[in-house]
Amino acid sequence: MDYQKILDTIYKEMSYRDVKGKVASYIPELAKIDRRKFGMHVYCGTNDHFHFGASDEKFSIQSISKVFTLSMAMQIMGESLWDRVSVEPSGDPFNSLTQLEKESGIPRNPFINAGALVISDILVDQLKDPKKELLEFVRKITGEDDIDYDMNIASSEKSTGYRNVALVNYIKALGNIKCDVEPIVDFYFHQCSLAMSCRQLAKAFMIFANRGKILENGTKILKPKTVKRINALMQTCGFYDEAGEFSFQVGLPGKSGVGGGIVAIHPDNYSVAVWSPILNEKGNSELGMKALERFTTLTGVSVF
Ligand code: GLN
Repeated sequence: MDYQKILDTIYKEMSYRDVKGKVASYIPELAKIDRRKFGMHVYCGTNDHFHFGASDEKFSIQSISKVFTLSMAMQIMGESLWDRVSVEPSGDPFNSLTQLEKESGIPRNPFINAGALVISDILVDQLKDPKKELLEFVRKITGEDDIDYDMNIASSEKSTGYRNVALVNYIKALGNIKCDVEPIVDFYFHQCSLAMSCRQLAKAFMIFANRGKILENGTKILKPKTVKRINALMQTCGFYDEAGEFSFQVGLPGKSGVGGGIVAIHPDNYSVAVWSPILNEKGNSELGMKALERFTTLTGVSVF
């Protein structure tokens, strides 16, 4: 498969001018990002890296980080995690509060904010220094020590993050949050501020395409069963109320963030990350989704 030729075709065919959406602005610092940015990186084997555009530039990974924190929580809690968070698509926006009361504070899945905040509660409760351990986890699976939090993004989100604070309070009132609200949202805002490039994201997500092992050195990070569960959740819940459309258009398990990144994997085959900060109405990268649709169409490889 000539991945570079396929990527070159996509880069030639598409640009930010083809999409009409907006860069996220509810986190003030994200509104400053140049809407013309566009990059993509495919990783499909040791030393098999293909890319175009701004693929090496770091951006705020936002909700993509929820896959890392879920992985860590599953390592700690095993199957008992599912007593605290469910595994069903929500069909609602990522920051919705509406289903919680009906479901006794058990969020529909770990990728909507409500679910990710319960996961944050678990990590804050179980780990001595969750921020440090999350960094260590991401640095280990990528082999890249320069990955860090972007403090400007973290404090920008903290200054406007009333809805997430409300979500934690609400879930706490319903009995599914153990720790104090402040450390939970502080950890959550930090995880969302992680700054990574498409290349680094593609490397990180290779563990989900490689049955839980780091491709380059064979180190086992997650059990194959955990990877099966996480990939299933990415397929069914990774794009909130657009999960069906992403499956329909692209046909890969994946996860998006409001920073405009999307990562997707094909089990035993490749991981691919794309970044364009222009979002559609559902909060997913508009150009990113189009690029991935082209990618699975041109390669002829999706999970379906
Ligand atoms: N930090 C963002 C929030 O909580 C993450 C949302 C996202 O990327 N979808 O609103």
